[in-house]
Amino acid sequence: MISKTRHAVIVGGGLGGLAAALRLTMRGWRVTVCEQDSVLGGKMSRWQSQGFRFDTGPSLITLPWIFEDLFAAAGADMREHLELAPLEPLARYVYADGVRFDYTTSMPGLLPILRDCEGSADGFFRFMRLGAQIYALSKGTFLRRPVTAPPDRTVLSALRHAPLLRGWGNYHKTVCAYFRSPQLRQLFGRYPTYVGSSPYQTPATLAIIPYIEFAFGGWYVQGGLYRIVETLVGLLDERGAELRTNARVARIDAPSNSVQGIELENGDRLAADLVIMNGDTSSSPGLLGGTVTKLPAADRSLSGLVLLVGINRRVADLHHHNVFFSRDYAEEFRQLFIERRIPDDPTVYVNVPSQSDPSSAPQGGEALFLMINAPATGEQWDGPRIAEARNRVFNRLRASGFPDIEGHIVVEHAVTPQMLAERFGMPGGAIYGPHSHGWRKTFFRPPNKDKHVRGLYYAGGSAHPGGGTPMVLLSAKITEELIARYEE
Ligand SMILES: Cc1cc2nc3c(=O)[nH]c(=O)nc-3n(C[C@H](O)[C@H](O)[C@H](O)COP(=O)(O)OP(=O)(O)OC[C@H]3O[C@@H](n4cnc5c(N)ncnc54)[C@H](O)[C@@H]3O)c2cc1C
Repeated sequence: MISKTRHAVIVGGGLGGLAAALRLTMRGWRVTVCEQDSVLGGKMSRWQSQGFRFDTGPSLITLPWIFEDLFAAAGADMREHLELAPLEPLARYVYADGVRFDYTTSMPGLLPILRDCEGSADGFFRFMRLGAQIYALSKGTFLRRPVTAPPDRTVLSALRHAPLLRGWGNYHKTVCAYFRSPQLRQLFGRYPTYVGSSPYQTPATLAIIPYIEFAFGGWYVQGGLYRIVETLVGLLDERGAELRTNARVARIDAPSNSVQGIELENGDRLAADLVIMNGDTSSSPGLLGGTVTKLPAADRSLSGLVLLVGINRRVADLHHHNVFFSRDYAEEFRQLFIERRIPDDPTVYVNVPSQSDPSSAPQGGEALFLMINAPATGEQWDGPRIAEARNRVFNRLRASGFPDIEGHIVVEHAVTPQMLAERFGMPGGAIYGPHSHGWRKTFFRPPNKDKHVRGLYYAGGSAHPGGGTPMVLLSAKITEELIARYEE
């Protein structure tokens, strides 16, 4: 353990920043987290009104042992702090042609669905085997090792030369090779959106995502996912980290390309032996005093429009996760990524925490989180634009047989791409940093250690290995290991 006189400043108190802070605190560093927002947690946030409680960001946790690993590194047992609940079924899927079913990890439940849709379960098992092979290859390589500069080609080469049938093609084409039914093609086509990307442009290696969800489950945290942030903040307080909110870092001081500290927007200066950037990696040249850059629009992952709706009635026939698919998925992604606009007929994800956690809504009511994908363009989201997108959400729900809830709305709040961009400094509100279209973008994300500036590191969804809560925690772990190697 190193002496507490060595000081690390973390720019951003999102999940990646908090995880990195906890890990460094445990290694003996004095840690200060500077968060520009008024609360910690970044995109993992919460909104409450009139007895309704909503997570405004993540609603699904996968790979729960990655969370357990963080707690263990902090000398804590996650189960003493958080109650994780597996969700079964994983989701209810409702299609534009009226077909609906519950996608489940239970074989007696799943086999009849696969037989109804496909006539056989064979394609499903072969697709899952592909995902399992990719997972086996990635878990000790891409997901555990830093992308160093120059990029670690041994890791890529190990993956590239693996004998994976169809593993190196286009994701959508691969799904089509395994599944005949339009329903299962659309269902499995949805997974690249978990990293803000299009099934029509991503590599088939993303088959790892449906495999991970099916094999290891989808999880909820009782009391809401924001409990994770509250618990991490509690652990950081106990371990002596300094947590500053309303503290925007305006500049990283690195004369002669060696970090010396940071300057806050209010003029305060903090000396530091190292700085970890948790905010978007593309903003660091600007913070270093160079040209202010932004992730180019063409490289951005999806943003989202979220409507948080509290209603004073229960809705029968819903699960915790529900997806109401658009009629034409290819057209939806063409409008998102080529025309870069809200689709005319968007797929609507409906998360209903009150189905498994009564504490999230007043008795007899329901908390609904309605989300559609949106391009990360950086446009203004004024009232008419929100109203137009909201109409499209409700049109899709009505067309899919969703009950009329308009007369039962008690509270409603929209989270727009513009809000995500302004509140968290994500270009255009891109939720997952750069998209994963093509090989290079998937495997060569910005590294966790700056190539030019000594003492500058990155931990978060826009850096390696990527976005989504488990990946962000892995990013913090990889960064910790780099710091142990280069700074201690
Ligand atoms: C609507 C939505 C739904 C999602 N659903 C899921 C899901 O179901 N499952 C899942 O796993 N993931 C999901 N995600 C993604 C997940 O939330 C993110 O991948 C993860 O929370 C990102 O954490 P982070 O620490 O990398 O970044 P952030 O949460 O963006 O944190 C970065 C922090 O840095 C701060 N910051 C930036 N610049 C500065 C500066 N100069 N000075 C001070 N502070 C600064 C920002 O304010 C921010 O708080 C979702 C996200 C959203 C928005």
